[in-house]
Amino acid sequence: KLSTGELKALVRTVPDFPEPGIQFRDITTLIGHSEGLSASVHHLAEIARAKGAQKIAGMEARGFIFGAAVAVQLGIGFVLVRKPGKLPVSTIGVDYALEYGTDRLEVDPGSITGGESIIIVDDLIATGGTALATAQLLRQAGGTVEDALFVIDLPDLGGAAKLQQAGVAVQTLMQFE
Ligand code: IMP
Repeated sequence: KLSTGELKALVRTVPDFPEPGIQFRDITTLIGHSEGLSASVHHLAEIARAKGAQKIAGMEARGFIFGAAVAVQLGIGFVLVRKPGKLPVSTIGVDYALEYGTDRLEVDPGSITGGESIIIVDDLIATGGTALATAQLLRQAGGTVEDALFVIDLPDLGGAAKLQQAGVAVQTLMQFE
């Protein structure tokens, strides 16, 4: 199994995307590599197993890739955290602030059983806004949320600290300063 250091070397950095001055950390190259994808999932699944996850939640769209694979690995269910207007049933939603404007995430409350332990999985944590909103949403729906796992951490943006304050412990496979 590839080490997390070897996985880091498979992430592509694209300068000036989506805006000038941003170094975009792109998982396309990591997931396109057979061992890169499987080792990323295995490392995340080991952590989720040790935490006793009863369900995995992933955010649209890249959280679906890693989150669903981790859920399969553990033999547990997966919760879709979706962009607005995608779910065919009545949802609960949370609005959250972006650098410019706001965004919204929605979940089907029927996808969560009261009290079950749900671990959040996404590709990357930057400011932590998306993951914090997800934790709030899952809690509103009755889930217990104490952990979030990411392939990539951008620690300079303070996301892990923000989640920690909300009672969500963060673990990541690699960091880009
Ligand atoms: P946050 O809400 O600021 O933590 O941003 C995290 C969300 O934005 C995640 O869903 C990421 O997929 C996406 N994101 C932010 N920066 C990057 C990046 O450099 N590469 C890939 N995705 C990013």
